[in-house]
Amino acid sequence: MAELAKVVDSSSEVTRALIDALGAETTLLDEDVNARGAGIWRTDTIRAQVLVRPKTTEQVATALKVCHMHEQPVVIHGGLTGLVEGALTNQGDVVISLERMNEIEEVLALERTMIVQAGVPLQMVQETAQSHGLMFPLDLGARGSCTIGGNISTNAGGNRVIRYGMTRDMILGLEAVLMDGTVVSSMNQMIKNNAGYDLKQLFIGTEGTLGVVTRAVLRCREEVRSQPTALVGIADFDHLVRFLKHADRGLGGNLSAFEVMWNDYYRLVSSPPAQNSAPLSSDYGFYVLIEGMGATEDTLMSMLNDAFEDELIADAVVAQSEAQRMDIWALRDDVEQVFQFAPAMWFDVSLRIPLMEDYVEGVYARLQSEFDDAKVFTLGHMGDGNIHFAIAPGDDSVDTRRRVEACVYEPLKRIGGSVSAEHGVGLEKKPYLGLVRDETEIDLMRRLKQALDPKGLLNPGKIFDAS
Ligand SMILES: Cc1cc2nc3c(=O)[nH]c(=O)nc-3n(C[C@H](O)[C@H](O)[C@H](O)COP(=O)(O)OP(=O)(O)OC[C@H]3O[C@@H](n4cnc5c(N)ncnc54)[C@H](O)[C@@H]3O)c2cc1C
Repeated sequence: MAELAKVVDSSSEVTRALIDALGAETTLLDEDVNARGAGIWRTDTIRAQVLVRPKTTEQVATALKVCHMHEQPVVIHGGLTGLVEGALTNQGDVVISLERMNEIEEVLALERTMIVQAGVPLQMVQETAQSHGLMFPLDLGARGSCTIGGNISTNAGGNRVIRYGMTRDMILGLEAVLMDGTVVSSMNQMIKNNAGYDLKQLFIGTEGTLGVVTRAVLRCREEVRSQPTALVGIADFDHLVRFLKHADRGLGGNLSAFEVMWNDYYRLVSSPPAQNSAPLSSDYGFYVLIEGMGATEDTLMSMLNDAFEDELIADAVVAQSEAQRMDIWALRDDVEQVFQFAPAMWFDVSLRIPLMEDYVEGVYARLQSEFDDAKVFTLGHMGDGNIHFAIAPGDDSVDTRRRVEACVYEPLKRIGGSVSAEHGVGLEKKPYLGLVRDETEIDLMRRLKQALDPKGLLNPGKIFDAS
């Protein structure tokens, strides 16, 4: 009793109101909040006055109503694997974490849909789909920790976009709670529904600035029984682009991954201290992980043989077992090797494929001219026009970060690219939104924010300034 009194004394009015409305078990305070990491690959911890862990949509609505009444800023947390400072908080913030809304409510195998709560980890969705003879196509390296609510809010992309699209393409309906506590239930279960505005789109890719996603209807696919996978070595970019077209045609529409590693990244992840070894010589300019979900191994082999004959590719290794397939993916996914050179900055940009070679060469040249020994590693979901750079410029000062960002982002304006392919904007890319979106677009974004959250309380300051 004495302890509860102490907690309540040291808390603000809004915290007391949240504890009254939701109970102490749902509201974490002090070290229970501060001991939690602020995000993957971050070394700081969460700063917030209270962290609310609702179990139901009604509790989310209650928490938001209380915060709305007290004009209290709120930040939403999923699995905290986001890479653009979208879930960062201030000490005065209230955090709503979806971690206890983690149930799969229903799997409708015949209709190939699944109804889930927003805090369910992506991997659990994938495994549940598989246990019902289905497949949920979204896949990314953070699958074990990221949540479906976070995937929706960032419109996550990942490894199979070339075939199945982004998260947006896998959501049939969703439920969200607005800042004033209004529950918008748009749990559509049909593939086609053009009756008025498609309201779910307001909450997909808007990074928790317009509402809290609480539940969703996911569109699954029939389980895929074959996934032939190969790693291919290619001499230069021209051959790489032609091989993409060749592979897409040769696999008859089954190309599901075209993951490219530049030579510098391939060497990084296939030599010590990295655990994986190099399945192909390290002398090629580019390496492609190619996967054809639903294709046969014969089709893959025949496509590769034709590519050899046409001298599009220099070498290839085809996975002969599931273990070998996983080994090839492990090479591609070993992104944490860049932290050997910490501090490292991650970039996620998008541009038309024919412009990619000149763009990347330009970024390398500018970095080399500005920094004595910056390390650069490049990879990406190249089939989707998406490149990731990991850049270790040598120090982590704000000035260095801004100069590196200028090297990567500024050229995108001229060539019509995007500063964010799939990670979102958050706080990190906010200064660069205006490079790739015009004033009219940003103004319309502001008007939507104003309509749904007029007090500007939900994930404030993220993506753009509300006024
Ligand atoms: C190793 C690794 C690999 C990755 N690979 C990819 C990749 O291939 N493709 C890709 O797109 N991303 C990738 N990411 C980035 C990240 O995993 C995704 O952005 C993911 O979708 C974030 O989900 P989360 O649950 O961790 O969200 P969080 O990090 O918790 O939050 C992300 C944003 O969404 C908001 N949010 C979270 N939950 C909700 C909710 N229920 N309602 C409203 N807003 C909410 C937050 O406020 C924040 O703005 C990768 C990250 C890592 C670490």
